[in-house]
Amino acid sequence: MTSSFVRVAVPRPVEDVFHYRIPDHLLGKIAPGHIVTAPFGKGTINGVVMEVTEEVPLKVRSILSVSPILPVEDKLLELTRWTASYYQSPLGLIVRMCVPPPFRSQSSKFRLTEKGSSALNEDTAGPFGDLLAALKRGARTAAHLEKKFSSDEFERCLGEGLIEVLDSSPSGPAAGEAGLKEPQYKRDENTVHTLTLDQKRVLDSIEKSIDDGSFSVALLQGVTGSGKTEIYLRAAQKVMNMGQSVLLLVPEISLTPLLTFRLERIARDRVAVVHSALTAAQKRSSWEDIREGRARLVVGVRSGVFVPIPDLGLIIVDEEHDASFRQEETPSYHARDVAVKRGQIQGIPVILGSATPSMESYRNSEVGKYQRLELPKRVTPYPAPEIEIVNMADPEVTRTENPFLSDRLMSVLKETVDGGSQAMLFLNRRGFSPFILCPDCNYTLPCPNCAVTLTYHRKRGMLCHYCGHLQPPPEACPNCQGIRMSPVGTGTQRLESAIASALPEAVIERLDRDIIVKKGALQDIYTRMDRSEIQVLVGTQIIAKGHDFPNVTLVGILNAEQALDFPDFRSSERTYQLITQVSGRAGRGTKKGRAIVQSYFPGHYSVSLALDGDYRAFYEAEAAIRSSLGYPPFGRMGRVIVEGAKEETVQKACVDIAQRHSGTKGIRILGPSSAPLPRILNRYRWHLLLLASDHSTLSKALRSTREKSYKSVRVHVRVDPYHLM
Ligand code: ADP
Ligand code: ZN
Repeated sequence: MTSSFVRVAVPRPVEDVFHYRIPDHLLGKIAPGHIVTAPFGKGTINGVVMEVTEEVPLKVRSILSVSPILPVEDKLLELTRWTASYYQSPLGLIVRMCVPPPFRSQSSKFRLTEKGSSALNEDTAGPFGDLLAALKRGARTAAHLEKKFSSDEFERCLGEGLIEVLDSSPSGPAAGEAGLKEPQYKRDENTVHTLTLDQKRVLDSIEKSIDDGSFSVALLQGVTGSGKTEIYLRAAQKVMNMGQSVLLLVPEISLTPLLTFRLERIARDRVAVVHSALTAAQKRSSWEDIREGRARLVVGVRSGVFVPIPDLGLIIVDEEHDASFRQEETPSYHARDVAVKRGQIQGIPVILGSATPSMESYRNSEVGKYQRLELPKRVTPYPAPEIEIVNMADPEVTRTENPFLSDRLMSVLKETVDGGSQAMLFLNRRGFSPFILCPDCNYTLPCPNCAVTLTYHRKRGMLCHYCGHLQPPPEACPNCQGIRMSPVGTGTQRLESAIASALPEAVIERLDRDIIVKKGALQDIYTRMDRSEIQVLVGTQIIAKGHDFPNVTLVGILNAEQALDFPDFRSSERTYQLITQVSGRAGRGTKKGRAIVQSYFPGHYSVSLALDGDYRAFYEAEAAIRSSLGYPPFGRMGRVIVEGAKEETVQKACVDIAQRHSGTKGIRILGPSSAPLPRILNRYRWHLLLLASDHSTLSKALRSTREKSYKSVRVHVRVDPYHLM
């Protein structure tokens, strides 16, 4: 007898899978991985079949239809199960990332198919009659139809072949990023380099793993400019020549035109890019290229780790230390660690690359779980840039009119621009200034919804970086009616205008999150940087990523240890990474580069060891601290966040959770306390951290936390948290 029940994961933030009956006409046609439509509450829902079973629950409803979309393959289903269980994230929200995007964007149009027309004419359309009738006089956009019909109705009509998508938006993996293929990146990137001895040694070793064709993890540690990307390209090429596909994951903001260009050099039209800025139509077209094997090199950001790829032969994670691989919100997961798991499930090699490996990965290479491969030298003629420190805490250090900018940095900047080279200035704070202050009563303007001060943006006004609240700057102090309120501190906007007035001849541009949301802006800045049409680029950490502008000879870091202000055990690590990554941007071409680092704590080991470029010494210093405290990677950490509208209830629940764990064997508790961001969007937040020596002890404790529910608060748990605010 064929099994006649299924368990379905649905895209809702719930733990459970749901049971359904397979109706007679679908018997034998449904297997794990199939995408199905099923009744849900009063409506319907699309979900993924996780299991087909004999078990007969008492009362279940029937599946409505099966989608023609290819089912999710077994190994990927296994990966989603592991991810959901390891991170205690809702399975349905994880599985959804393996399913191609819905066949519709707001602007895509629907029209009747022949089958749909005749169903309408013959009055056999049943529940879909209204939707079909709405399309009778011609195609309509999704936006138009969504006013009257639910998305489930669309999906079902599509599934039944009654309607189809009339797609007018451009397709193709990189469409919309027009200009990627323009020849401005010619340079030497078209020539095939002869590998250095170090590169050869590393590539040999990686090629061996590829030939083995089994699971292994290599941690490729190489200073910026040491030729890591070149190694990825060679390894990818080899795998593609074997008829297999490659997945390359990069941090959100390093999907640069240059990277795409270099990838296209080896893979031509066989590159598919998957990231969140694509329209549904572009995304779908990329997914189809991948599924049909037309695209063999898949480049994506963190969610790309779940994209179905036939014949996957190699996974590469570039800048593996980057925090953007971690998704903190539900469903939380860490794409680098999921990538390693995917490699294990699929039995293929994984390469993790970085100039500044995460403590986690480096430790794995210390204990022999990962193989460490090193590229200690730059391939370009000049060695790593000279790094000079300016001690901002020293009262003797002279400053420009702007207290955040030293004379030293300013004069080298002038020299650089006068000499025809380019500079990048880094400041990890966008906006004009962090807040405005009333000098008469010390009042700063708070966000009405969150316990933070509003950031002053020159054009837009006072903005909350947490909830997006926006209001005009006050004309007088709301507290004392004084009229001397003024901006304090510096953001990228203010830095930009300070430089512009000091260097009136130079072209200054700014690159931060406020800029990249404008379509085409990023592309425009890269192109003009590459052509040396911009002399000074001011930006946030976005400019710290793998860009490669050979004419940049100066990099300035305005406030090196900003990360140290945060109550987070990873702040030293972040400071070390930041200084190393940013200064690595200088001197990428044939000119020697230098970096000037302004710091208030030049003696802090994360600053001084970054200046020495001594990763190993940093690792050891940091490891000594973390292992003595049992912090990751020497122990496991979990976080419990409790939030709700009343602080008292929130606090009570959090204290209760802490008490319930206080006797748990193998668990150490830090807290409970009010979270560093104590209120966001009018919800109060408390948290506690759990430490354990191994994952399973931690996992059990976190699971038990979720067993008890508290009135009027929500409890979230995070496994291996990165964000402790
Ligand atoms: P990384 O990824 O470590 O920063 P890249 O692979 O981007 O390093 O290499 C830095 C620059 O050097 C690039 O412009 C690249 O084309 C070039 N390059 C890489 N390998 C070689 C080589 N063996 N000989 C000459 N140039 C090379
Ligand atoms: Zn806010």
